[in-house]
Amino acid sequence: MANNYDNEALIELCSKVDLFEYASKDMDFEGRGDSYAAHCPKHIDKTPSLVITPSKNLFHCFSCGVGGNIINWLMTFENMSFNDAVEKVGLLAGVDVKNLKQCSALKVYKNLARITEPKKKSVVDRVILNDSEIDKYEDKTPEEWIDEGINPDIMKKYNIRIDNITNRIVYPVYDSELRLIGFKGRTRYKNYKEMKIKKYQNYQKIGTTDFFIGMKENYENIIVHDEVIIFEGIKSGMKVEGWGYNYWLSSETGWLNDEQVLLLIKLGVKKVVIAYDNDVDMKKIQECTEKLRKFTNVYVVTDRRFVKDRLLGSVEDKMSPCDKGKVVWEILYKERRRL
Ligand SMILES: [Zn+2]
Repeated sequence: MANNYDNEALIELCSKVDLFEYASKDMDFEGRGDSYAAHCPKHIDKTPSLVITPSKNLFHCFSCGVGGNIINWLMTFENMSFNDAVEKVGLLAGVDVKNLKQCSALKVYKNLARITEPKKKSVVDRVILNDSEIDKYEDKTPEEWIDEGINPDIMKKYNIRIDNITNRIVYPVYDSELRLIGFKGRTRYKNYKEMKIKKYQNYQKIGTTDFFIGMKENYENIIVHDEVIIFEGIKSGMKVEGWGYNYWLSSETGWLNDEQVLLLIKLGVKKVVIAYDNDVDMKKIQECTEKLRKFTNVYVVTDRRFVKDRLLGSVEDKMSPCDKGKVVWEILYKERRRL
């Protein structure tokens, strides 16, 4: 692993560099109250949307949503990796970053998410749960998922458990700052449709899915691989992890919302590979990744063979690209198409 810095040390480092002074060397800003505005280079920007507030030493684009401190600036506008950006800020500040206090990459991610978090518009008041809530559910891996080819040790990693009262398979849900906000459960009843029971259900009110399942567990792997694979559900991710692909997240739906796109921009990885089920709505994928594609390379895993030759079978069966085993997954993953 590369360098990981202590958050307080990073904040202090950033405070030593004047963001406005640095940015105005290459960009023309106009005064706007106690802030300055410029045209955002990330997109066509008719009226200047990119604002720097010198008193806070932060920037924010009101059009595309990017924002943060000088580190985020370098990552966003100079395409630097996190570590390169920290080193450059060190140079600008005249500080040897090798001497900065270090901490775990996960803590860095949490703090980065916190510093650059946009104003929450989630209407639901979420409750942050104590981690011990997990122990309400039996620590047992479900047989039916083992039968589907998911490695029990990998299920342990994601804290897959059993809710014996409602007969569901449950797993914890963490928000973008990796705090426990609830549990999601999948019914174990085979005839759940006739019973009029939901297949998947959130145990707590979650509101907008402004997070990814798997971020807590896979953040470091994603940074190391400089790539992330996005699935519709946790099962697919756990399945491919058994074949060595441990740099995945689940968006929990067949498309990405604005909050999730922002998180992916902040991740700053070179490749985002979307591997949704075979009934994926390509038009929707094109639309929801439009902004993301300005920041990174977006690929999609799809089977473009003629209907009768398709490796995942009929669209009605709603198959994940990993549902037909490792060989088919690796063919489709290799054939991923850049959007
Ligand atoms: Zn912008």
